[in-house]
Amino acid sequence: MAKSSSIDAVNQYFAEAARVIDLDDDMFGVLTTSYRELSVQVPVRLDDGELIVARGYRVQHNGARGPYKGGVRFHPAADLDEVRALASLMTWKTALMDLPFGGAKGGIEVDPAGLSADELQRMTRRFAQSIHHVLGVYRDIPAPDLNTNAQVMAWMMDAYSSVHGYSPAIVTGKPLDLGGAPGRDSATGRGVVYVLDACCEHRGIDLASQRVAIQGFGQVGNWVARELADRGATVVAVSDLKGGIVRPAGLDVASLVATVRAGGSVVDHADDAGVEAVSNEELLELDVDVLVPAAVEEVITEDNADRVRAPIVVEAANHPTTPGADKILGDRNVLVIPDILANAGGVTGSYFEWTQNIQQFTWKEERFLTELADRLAKACRDTQAFADERDVTLRQAAFAIGIKRVSDACRLRGYI
Ligand code: NAD
Repeated sequence: MAKSSSIDAVNQYFAEAARVIDLDDDMFGVLTTSYRELSVQVPVRLDDGELIVARGYRVQHNGARGPYKGGVRFHPAADLDEVRALASLMTWKTALMDLPFGGAKGGIEVDPAGLSADELQRMTRRFAQSIHHVLGVYRDIPAPDLNTNAQVMAWMMDAYSSVHGYSPAIVTGKPLDLGGAPGRDSATGRGVVYVLDACCEHRGIDLASQRVAIQGFGQVGNWVARELADRGATVVAVSDLKGGIVRPAGLDVASLVATVRAGGSVVDHADDAGVEAVSNEELLELDVDVLVPAAVEEVITEDNADRVRAPIVVEAANHPTTPGADKILGDRNVLVIPDILANAGGVTGSYFEWTQNIQQFTWKEERFLTELADRLAKACRDTQAFADERDVTLRQAAFAIGIKRVSDACRLRGYI
């Protein structure tokens, strides 16, 4: 079956929200296409002498409200269509959070799993060299995403700085020793739980009583699990690329984190007492209170949406739910907390890092987390109030708020 188009799906969500705010056709045309799409060749010499030629992308969707902002991923599915869709989501996310940024995304269409550190570094530098002319501290600021991390950001910063001079603010999600912000590491995952907590509170649900399944135990998923465990919720299932595990009485999150940090997989715990193996597909259909997709796109589709048993789905991953699945979940009264709200702690934390780099002044982690919680709480209140007032879903409300802010900025700047 041909892969469905991710940008068509995101634009379907856009269209639903645009109708709610009566967006005019001219603005619709501008905001459903990207401003700039750069596609570059990324040749990488492997350690054994073989050459692979990957393709890299940087898509800048809209910059009306500030410099383009968005992550870079290394993934075999990171083609132009996917990067385009993710760039568009970043525009609505930064606007929903009222950050002075636009939206962008980057990616290299490659499976980094077998690459050595040297190969990864060569690939990252080549990509950065090929896109540096569209980046800038006040133009476009990348960050980590799937299969990229603080080390990859350090290499990007170095490649950029070797041309433009020392520029720590050119990327966020850096190592602490290079201008990273204490708190940024955990911001996306913790933010997911702050948002979930706010949505639960609005509905009179006690977060500590919730049983949660998390798909993906990487940068985002592991922090979701840790924050949930700290708040007394029960993490009953987790997974990664190798598969999943479930323990109805609750998993030992700290020991899972230690295993993954040491380079292992959550499935290394499949033989622990009371633990059973579960596939990534089965995890989505477990009898839990909250389901957190925190891995890749389009895992909840029209094929499995009617088997999702959790009454709450929190989209920690970007675009985990197709529009068809979203409709099925909505019809079944499943509360879907949309990606552009749920995982917005990441870009908000990146904003804090960027401002600290520009001011050359580092905040303490407590301040970072307090500001993060405040901003997410406000975005939750705005989104919930809009949804209640207009009788629309949280996704429609979140998109509508973002679209309105961006279209106002486009008009004020005389863009159209
Ligand atoms: P990561 O590479 O650190 O972790 C990804 C996790 O998902 C790993 O555990 C991996 O094994 C697992 N995984 C990969 N492919 C899978 C598959 N097909 N099925 C099941 N599990 C799979 O990436 P991350 O930074 O944690 O990003 C996860 C999601 O969160 C992505 O959608 C990303 O766009 C989104 N996100 C990340 C950030 C951030 O700050 N890192 C911010 C906002 C949104």
